Parts: sequence; C-alpha cells; structure tokens
Amino acid sequence: MHSTQAIPRSHGGWRFDHSYTRLPAELFERTKPDRVCRPVMAVFNRALAMELGLAPEGLDSTCGAVLFSGNELPPGAEPIAQAYAGHQFGHFTMLGDGRAVLLGEQLDPAGRRWDVQLKGSGRTRYSRRGDGRAALGPMLREYIISEAMHGLGIPTTRSLAVVATGETVHRDEPLPGAVLVRVAASHIRVGTFEYAASLGDPKVLAALVDYTIQRHFPECASESAPGRAFLEAVCRSQATLIAKWFSVGFIHGVMNTDNMALSGETIDYGPCAFMDAYDPETVFSSIDRNGRYAFSQQPVIAHWNLARLAESVAPILHSCEEKGLEMAKEALSVYPGAFKRAWLDAMGAKIGLFEPTESDVPLVEDLLVWMLQTKADFTNSFRHLDPESGAAGSSGWRKAWAERLGRQSQSFADARGLMQRSNPAVIPRNHKVEGALQAAMESDDFSSLRELLDALESPYEDKARNLEFLTPGPPPTTPYRTFCGT
Ligand code: AMP
Ligand code: MG
Repeated sequence: MHSTQAIPRSHGGWRFDHSYTRLPAELFERTKPDRVCRPVMAVFNRALAMELGLAPEGLDSTCGAVLFSGNELPPGAEPIAQAYAGHQFGHFTMLGDGRAVLLGEQLDPAGRRWDVQLKGSGRTRYSRRGDGRAALGPMLREYIISEAMHGLGIPTTRSLAVVATGETVHRDEPLPGAVLVRVAASHIRVGTFEYAASLGDPKVLAALVDYTIQRHFPECASESAPGRAFLEAVCRSQATLIAKWFSVGFIHGVMNTDNMALSGETIDYGPCAFMDAYDPETVFSSIDRNGRYAFSQQPVIAHWNLARLAESVAPILHSCEEKGLEMAKEALSVYPGAFKRAWLDAMGAKIGLFEPTESDVPLVEDLLVWMLQTKADFTNSFRHLDPESGAAGSSGWRKAWAERLGRQSQSFADARGLMQRSNPAVIPRNHKVEGALQAAMESDDFSSLRELLDALESPYEDKARNLEFLTPGPPPTTPYRTFCGT
C-alpha cells in the first residue's frame, strides 16, 4: 500500500497518495466537489498546514479559499466519496460521504499519511435526500472543538480551514454555507466495516481489514491471527480514547458507529460539548432524547459499537462461521478491562498518582461523588486540587488523598507537576464557544473566535490573558442544548 517514494512534492508542498482507491471499487465513488459561488476564507490553521508540509503563504487568502472550497483542486488530488453504513441511535442504515470528499492522503515531511477531506462539498451518490452542504456555524464549531481536543492531547481529527461559500443552505432557517477542511489519520469508521460486511463478499472485507491493519496497526500483521489481534488493538485504542474524554468532561453526543474512527481519533463533531458542573447524566444533544449518549454512557456505547465491528469482521477470522464469531467475541472481551485500566490511569494522574492501582478507584470515585453533590465545576475542581491547600473534596477525602500521595515515592512537587499536565485550565466553555460563533456569524467579527482558539492551544498553562476562559458561564435557565451538525 505504502510505496510512496515515487510521489514528488508539488508546488505548494502537496504530496498526495491515494492508497484507499486501490481498495475494491465498492468501497468508494470517484466524484468531484461542487463549485461554490463566492469562497472566502473564514479560519485557516497555519500551524497545521506547516505540519502537513504545505507552504502556508497564499493559502490563508483568496488562493486558499479557492482550493479549500473545492472550486479548484490542489495538485495531485483525486477526490472520492467513501462508502459506509452505520448504526444511528441503534438502527442500521446505509450511509457514506453524503456531503464530503476525500481529496487524497497527504504525505507530510515526517512520512506520515493524512486524509485531507472537504466537508460540505456538495452531493455524492451517498447523499440520500441531503443537499450535500454544511452551514458555517457547525463547521466553525467543529474547527474550535477539534482543535481544542488536539490542544488537550486527545486523539482527534484536525481542522485545516473553514471557507464560507457565499451560498445559503436551508435548514430550519436559511444559513450561510461553508466547507470545512478536515485532516485525519484516516476516515475509516466502524461503519465502513459494517458496509463491507453487508456486501457479503469476504474478499472486500478482507481487503479492508488488511488495509486498516497496514495503515493503523501494522504490528498486528505479524501475529498468528492478525484479524483477531487487530480487533483487540481497536478495543484498546477506543478504551484509551473514551477514558481521555472522561478525563476532560467531553461528551461526543452522537456516538453512532459511523462516527467512530478506527484510527482511535475523535471524529464528527456535531452536538458535542464539555461539561461544567460534574454530572454523569449530562446530555447536550437535542436529538438524544433518551440519553443514549450521556456522559456516563460513553464507555458502554463504545463497547456496543465495537461489538458491531467484531460481528462485521468475524466472517474473515475463521473459515468456520461459529469459530469466527467465537474469536471475535474473545477479542471484544479485552475492552472492559482495557477501559478500566485507561480510566484509572487518566483519572489517577488527575489526582497526582503516578501508578494508580485498583485500590485507588474509591479515592477517585469519592471525589466525583463530592463534585456531583456540590455541583462543582469538573475542570476547575481538578485544576485547583492541591495536596497542601487542596480546595476540592471533603476534609475526610483530602486527608485520605494526602496520605495516599505520601505513600508514593514521588514528592508532592512531582505530583503537582503531573496534575498540572493532566488537569487543563482552559476548555472550550459553552458560553465562550457560543459567543465566538455568534460574533462570527452575526457581525463577521472573528476576533473572539481567534482569542478562543489561541487560549485552547495551550490549555495546561496558566496565562494571565486566559483569565476570561477559566470560568463557566452563568448557570443556564434551561439545560444547554447542542444541535446536530447538518
Ligand atoms: P453526520 O450527522 O454529519 O455524522 O452525518 C450522518 C450521515 O448523513 C453521513 O453519511 C453524512 O454524509 C450524511 N449527511 C449529513 N448531512 C448531510 C447533507 N446535508 N447532505 C447529504 N448528506 C448528509
Ligand atoms: Mg458522521
């Protein structure tokens, strides 16, 4: 797959490969982005452009807007829409890139491979009844939250740019249109495997599994049962990801199987948000009426989604169907333990523990119970924890905690350092996100958005200019609701 030596870097630094198009043709459609009438750059991520090996000069202006809207293609681009299926709120549906195209896989100077995708780029064969377009507000929102996640050190797709199209998209109301340029380790989803399995052709499924192993889990290729090792590796990487979400109070909002990436990156930012006051029952998404994707449900749902992956892959694990299913089930069984371990590592670090063990679970849980009872702010409670002046937790808890810290070989100063690195000061507070979006949309004023992005770049540092980003907004009179990114 990765014979990339022959691909030269073109003018502007583009160096595209198209390994996905060497997969069976059922898995994608060659297509082109639709033209837009008046593309204008709204936000451009210069640092990311440089990481990708692109020359940022010129990209942040008209030329960039023309490329990133899809009106012109960068050199070497061969756009495709990817096919996938998915369980949406538990129901199986055929989906696919209905409003996105993959331009290609950019090979960066370090030799890494990145999908560059335009989201909101027009209709494809997978559009169903949709218009193929995206609105500016949700695309800016995805830009902010994905870059915030990156700043927090949580695996995520990135955002290279948002271009306003100058066109109107019609939702419940007329809205300004936009295209987001999304950069990802890949866009292979659990739903991609569900789609491949639904074709009933083991060759297609096997090709997809081999490809994903090569691209994301090459160490599995040399295992005696690579497919099974691959499933286990995916379970571990998802467990780590969800534990990281937990550690910062992130709620994805629509953990459908088509919104779960095999790369282990957070993908498809729709109605997601960060909690202020700790409450495991928190739901933000307006469409999640039964709380299927509530904060505390996320590890359970990830497990459910992984079961759909395991089922899909089972037919190629063994020539005997029953044996294949058994192997898939065994692989899946690593998930609960992996999540528990990843949760303990992530939460233990937040209270300064270098090597948290099973016996530390009550210490973490007691603090969370205290937060729930006192409606404490999740982010700030952890950020202000200190073994000597400790602001959070009951007095009994603080005593037990100080004793526990005293039993580890590292000093209080070391523990403080670990906590500083594990407890962000800045998260994208809901009122700050909404304020920045409102100013951008209503007054074409992007200054708040830029200040917010700047603060989110280094969320673990105390900076005087970040003061305004440290506090939750006034308590909402009605629960905060987010809307799907369509
Ligand atoms: P999402 O809610 O963005 O994860 O999208 C779920 C599915 O619906 C994906 O297959 C999208 O490509 C598709 N989709 C969402 N919005 C649109 C739209 N406006 N036009 C066409 N397809 C869409
Ligand atoms: Mg999606």
